[in-house]
Amino acid sequence: MSSAALTFDQARALIAAKLDGVVKTPFPEVVPLERAAGRVLAQDVRADRDYPPFARSARDGFAVRSADVAEPPARLKVLGETRAGEPSRFEVGPGEAVEIMTGAPGPAGADCVVMVEYSRREGGDVILERGVDAGRNLIPQGAESPAGSLVLARGVRLDYPQIALLAAVGCHRVAVHRRPTAAILSTGDEVVDIDRTPESFQIRNSNAYSLAAQVERRGGEARVLPIAPDRLEETRDLIRLGLESDLLLLSGGVSMGKHDLVEQALADLGVEISITQVLIQPGKPFVFGLAGDKPVCGLPGNPISTMVTFELFARLALDRLAGRPESPLPFVEARLTKDFRHKPVLTRFLPARLSGDYHDARVEPIQWQGSGDLAAVAQANCYLVASAEREGWSAGEAIPVLPL
Ligand code: AMP
Ligand code: MG
Repeated sequence: MSSAALTFDQARALIAAKLDGVVKTPFPEVVPLERAAGRVLAQDVRADRDYPPFARSARDGFAVRSADVAEPPARLKVLGETRAGEPSRFEVGPGEAVEIMTGAPGPAGADCVVMVEYSRREGGDVILERGVDAGRNLIPQGAESPAGSLVLARGVRLDYPQIALLAAVGCHRVAVHRRPTAAILSTGDEVVDIDRTPESFQIRNSNAYSLAAQVERRGGEARVLPIAPDRLEETRDLIRLGLESDLLLLSGGVSMGKHDLVEQALADLGVEISITQVLIQPGKPFVFGLAGDKPVCGLPGNPISTMVTFELFARLALDRLAGRPESPLPFVEARLTKDFRHKPVLTRFLPARLSGDYHDARVEPIQWQGSGDLAAVAQANCYLVASAEREGWSAGEAIPVLPL
């Protein structure tokens, strides 16, 4: 049942491979565009016409023939003005110009726009002090997206740039994938609901809340189940209930302790377990399995371990269920503010603060008391990633960072 411990990228590759055969693309539903942010596109979208739909001026200035301004200054006769929101009525011939505003359609015959900054009016003429090449400041019809071309492919998450594009092509109702449901099952005799006053030896069920927030943020629908005590039968019953959702996330009960029953309970129910340990900290005892075609993730109970293993592993399954084929981890690099050492056995994901300074991203580890220290991670905006292959880094050296 147990398998060898894997590095985190081996574990991710294994999970992706296991999901490949089984996870089905969820059914689409059609929603109005104003409700589509954060959803995953379930249709290909094509340009309904050329974009831009006409040769569009990118500047205020004068639409001219580039040959006429090849040897500036050039004196040209102004035929009139074209503004945004009206068709161009002019045809520009040799020695002629049309005054044009940003966003307006370029007149026939003109192949460039000279910016108004380089112009001077003299009666019915304009003196242009600079020449520009053909094509400058005039975006040809269809140059951005020709009619019928694919502008968005299914599987993309709709954020504000994609919403703008959909609006531009007139897609006011859009097919998106149904949000996958994720059951969240916290285990542990010490865990109590957050509206209860815990005894001195009890702790509140914070994991259900962080996991629900992580699930919702990734486009899933969280279903929090009652807390499972450390008893096999009740744990099994609640797992059965959890398997009614598209994805089951458990917290706690996956370590080697006498009362860590999750692996046993999953095995009893026929869940095929393929991962039981990953060489990371926090989060080493991580369980992944399939109940038929349903992914099940057993996350360690220490709150920061739960958060990290969700981001590294469970998210892969949730993204796949949401119709997103790719689930990259957005690692970046930043320079350490101070020397940093660790015991290079496990790859560590440590709460840290990334400065957003332009040209000089810096990262500072946050002092913490280990993977239960919620006050520390609440100060963080990233995880600093300390590779198992290295023991020390000096202040100023670059180190990978995973933004929260
Ligand atoms: P476990 O992985 O079950 O050994 O849990 C490790 C530790 O994580 C426990 O001793 C608790 O302190 C903490 N823990 C477990 N479950 C939760 C939970 N649902 N919410 C917050 N902390 C938890
Ligand atoms: Mg426990």
